[in-house]
Amino acid sequence: MPELPEVETIKNELLPHIVGRRISGVTLSWDGIVRQPSAEEFRSYLIGRTIVGLARRGKYLIFNLNSDESLIVHLRMTGSLLLKPALAESERFIRAIIYLDNGTGLYFRDSRKLGRMWLTKDTNSIISKLGPEPLEADFTPEILAQRLKNRSAPIKAILCDQSFIAGVGNMYADEALFAAKIHPLRSGKSLSWDEVERLYSAIQRVLWAAIGNKGASVDTYVRPGGELGTAHFQFQVAHCLSGKSCPVCGTPIERIPIRNRGSYFCPKCQPIKAWDNI
Ligand SMILES: [Zn+2]
Repeated sequence: MPELPEVETIKNELLPHIVGRRISGVTLSWDGIVRQPSAEEFRSYLIGRTIVGLARRGKYLIFNLNSDESLIVHLRMTGSLLLKPALAESERFIRAIIYLDNGTGLYFRDSRKLGRMWLTKDTNSIISKLGPEPLEADFTPEILAQRLKNRSAPIKAILCDQSFIAGVGNMYADEALFAAKIHPLRSGKSLSWDEVERLYSAIQRVLWAAIGNKGASVDTYVRPGGELGTAHFQFQVAHCLSGKSCPVCGTPIERIPIRNRGSYFCPKCQPIKAWDNI
């Protein structure tokens, strides 16, 4: 699933090509991709509008239009946004195409049909439940400590909870916990101040490095031009193939399910003690 670094890369790479462009047409080959309003209203509203800005919040992309409505896109598990010449050969799994006035089109490709689009005057109605942005200046180790204080869930599950912190998912939670040397099953409230500080800087490091490498193409993620990201080549444990050893100590990486998602960690570098409050 695209996480913060992947969605940030898509935003950065689309921005110079779409801002100022007028939408000249909309094709929906699967109406279910539009969550609100109706597919017909969506299509007729967008045609003729100009894209004036593009922002990211968590894993959502927000296209600002020259009107009081915004187009919100969530790629979910397998969605990609590709920017291509409008006459490009059609390919599989294209659910929607937004044509721009310079002869290009924004192609929403999604094999599993889980991605969604919304057109709304009130972006908060879609994104208001999101937690803080981990790379914004107002997210600090103190805020992280305060938010973890009463949480008894496993830290891995907490980091993937979008209302706790926006944009982190399975891959970058595993990477941040490995870098911070924290076992994924530790409860949020059991973390010491030192551990919270380590986790905070690990989250920053891991996310910025992945943005620098244009995201991780471990699954279906591609950049808008069709290129792959290379962040996964830096992964220490995330998305690990079985039998891989810890790059620090050589112990075999373990995989355990936490809330139905595979979690990868090194049992030696990320120990859990009997007296840890798990
Ligand atoms: Zn290790």
